[in-house]
Amino acid sequence: MSAPEVLTQLNARIAGACRHAGRALDAVTLIAVSKAFGAEAIAPFLEAGLRDFGENRVQEAAAKWPALKAAYPHVRLHMIGALQSNKADEAVQLFDTIHSLDRASLAEALRRAITKAGRAPQLFVQVNTGEEPQKGGVAPRDTAEFVSYCRANCGLTLSGLMCIPPEDDEPSLHFALLAELARQNGLQALSMGMSGDFDTAIALGATHIRVGSALFGARG
Ligand SMILES: *Cc1c(COP(=O)(O)O)cnc(C)c1O
Repeated sequence: MSAPEVLTQLNARIAGACRHAGRALDAVTLIAVSKAFGAEAIAPFLEAGLRDFGENRVQEAAAKWPALKAAYPHVRLHMIGALQSNKADEAVQLFDTIHSLDRASLAEALRRAITKAGRAPQLFVQVNTGEEPQKGGVAPRDTAEFVSYCRANCGLTLSGLMCIPPEDDEPSLHFALLAELARQNGLQALSMGMSGDFDTAIALGATHIRVGSALFGARG
């Protein structure tokens, strides 16, 4: 299938999930996760009208996207992977949204980088809803304290929460928990749902879904 065909099919699934959930189609932003794919795979989706793209490594994004952004200036780039504090400056320059804010040292580094750059990306706090040791994110019970630290101590404006459910768990439990934590903390946006579970995520209030393989195929 060509990129426009793949996108048409995916958009139909997203529209179906929105209809089923009684939600407006424009309440959900599709982020095309282009990690591990090169410019030649990405360009057809830019041509087809996609504007939000996700990457999980600063270095890879910095190598790929400046040239693509020059050709498609409307692009919005999302950082969805673990972010090292020493890459905060580069990330603030490159990305329009960061989904992986998960510790005080990174909040501090982002505050400094935002002041320096005079440019503030949208920020999502990542929550480790499954409390998996190998995954980033604050623990659910620490979310309120961390959100208030980011706001009060760092002066950061937060947009929402993000999670990546454990692979072998029922994702709806994690999406519902994330939605509840967002509600408790006065946050509107929910970055949740990937190729395998975005329908469920939309039903539970996702505002940003991060879809890779359903668009680009399997990663090598
Ligand atoms: C890779 C990745 C995705 C996309 O996963 P697919 O299953 O390919 O849709 C979404 N979110 C994050 C954080 C990722 O790292």
